[in-house]
Amino acid sequence: MEWNKDQLALKQRYFLVGRDLVRPSAAYRDENVTFDKKLWKKVGDTGLLGLSMPEQYGGSGLSIGDFSAALEGFSEGCQDMGVLVTFVAQVALVQSSLVNYGTKEQCETWLPALISGEKLACFAITERGCGSDVRSIQTEVEKNSQGYVLNGKKWNITNAPIADICMTFAKIKGKKEKAISCFILETNQDGIEQSEPFSLMGNRGTPIGAIDFNDVQLSHKNLISEEENGLSVLYFSFLIERILTGVLVTGCVRPLVKECTQYSQERHAFGKAIGENQYVQQYIVEIESKLELLSGVIFKALNFIEQGRDCSKLASIIKMYSSEIFHESALSSMRVLGNYGYRRENYYERLLRDAIGLLFAGGTTEIHKRVIWDSLLSDYKNNPKVHRNLKLSWQDAAHLQTAAEAV
Ligand SMILES: Cc1cc2nc3c(=O)[nH]c(=O)nc-3n(C[C@H](O)[C@H](O)[C@H](O)COP(=O)(O)OP(=O)(O)OC[C@H]3O[C@@H](n4cnc5c(N)ncnc54)[C@H](O)[C@@H]3O)c2cc1C
Repeated sequence: MEWNKDQLALKQRYFLVGRDLVRPSAAYRDENVTFDKKLWKKVGDTGLLGLSMPEQYGGSGLSIGDFSAALEGFSEGCQDMGVLVTFVAQVALVQSSLVNYGTKEQCETWLPALISGEKLACFAITERGCGSDVRSIQTEVEKNSQGYVLNGKKWNITNAPIADICMTFAKIKGKKEKAISCFILETNQDGIEQSEPFSLMGNRGTPIGAIDFNDVQLSHKNLISEEENGLSVLYFSFLIERILTGVLVTGCVRPLVKECTQYSQERHAFGKAIGENQYVQQYIVEIESKLELLSGVIFKALNFIEQGRDCSKLASIIKMYSSEIFHESALSSMRVLGNYGYRRENYYERLLRDAIGLLFAGGTTEIHKRVIWDSLLSDYKNNPKVHRNLKLSWQDAAHLQTAAEAV
């Protein structure tokens, strides 16, 4: 499968946005561990943050497939994992959960400012004591007459130091382990502390840090979906995140093939182009082959979503495979480019550092293998696991615009 004509036009349009608006300052943000909220607003002005969101909240009402074409183009153009990790946290995790599980009133309250880029959101599940094992979170809410009082410490959260809005998860005090609920809140409330950015190896173009909740008073309007349904919201948002992560990796890796091929023809050693050596060709051929395989699985998953079919296993395959081929491809490119690739004024070394972060963000390879294995086993036992919340209600055909209308 390939993008259709209208999707290709969208892809090209957002390639230019990424290349001209975001890429020129990407190295600066990486160097200074900073995020530019004014730039984020400009990205919002291009419509990208709301492409797949309903029109009534300021979006364009496109399908996830059309949106993915735009995201692939944007990623290829910007080559900035700071902005792209932020993108996944806000659009794939927060906005998608809100639009699929929030009430109309909640969508009206929170979505327009997110879609326009005026406000920035973080998605906080991880804690110092738990990452992969999300059910063991310690953050909790206690019910009172006004709603809930939230206490806990979230850790290693994309944009936690600067986010205006936070979607987070907490257990209801005194209830069983799975009784996790999802809340959305403003970060300027009493009792919320946002840390300084952590110093990390990569993904430095987006501040990653902690957010603490100390007796934060929430009302029922802050609760997303029903009490104790937080894990459903979480697994649904992970599904979208995993597929979109594959899309953005495709966009980031694709130029490497062309740039390495070109360099392999121009750079000479021992009296011939380095590209005449099969050892060198192999690096580039493998990047291209892996990229094609990744694209194939992404199209299959997008197709499943359009048909309303469960694609949780495919989503895990996409996340696992894309994060593995991302760092492998960045490293292979540096091998081909030699000293040129290793220089900090070129983007390859930044891409490699950022790609390593993706081995953890969005779930580790080991955890995705576990998900894939669980799925195989339940199929074998003739007890297929069906994702109960796959239905993307806002993606019903009746609500969707066509890509041609958005271009
Ligand atoms: C760039 C970046 C951005 C992030 N952004 C966010 C964010 O916005 N919001 C958020 O909530 N979190 C975020 N995270 C945190 C991320 O989700 C966690 O790092 C991830 O879930 C892994 O958790 P952990 O690092 O605590 O590792 P652990 O869970 O402690 O795992 C450590 C190791 O043990 C392995 N392991 C654990 N359990 C098993 C098992 N059952 N079987 C096999 N192996 C196992 C893991 O695979 C890993 O290799 C981000 C992380 C990064 C790197």
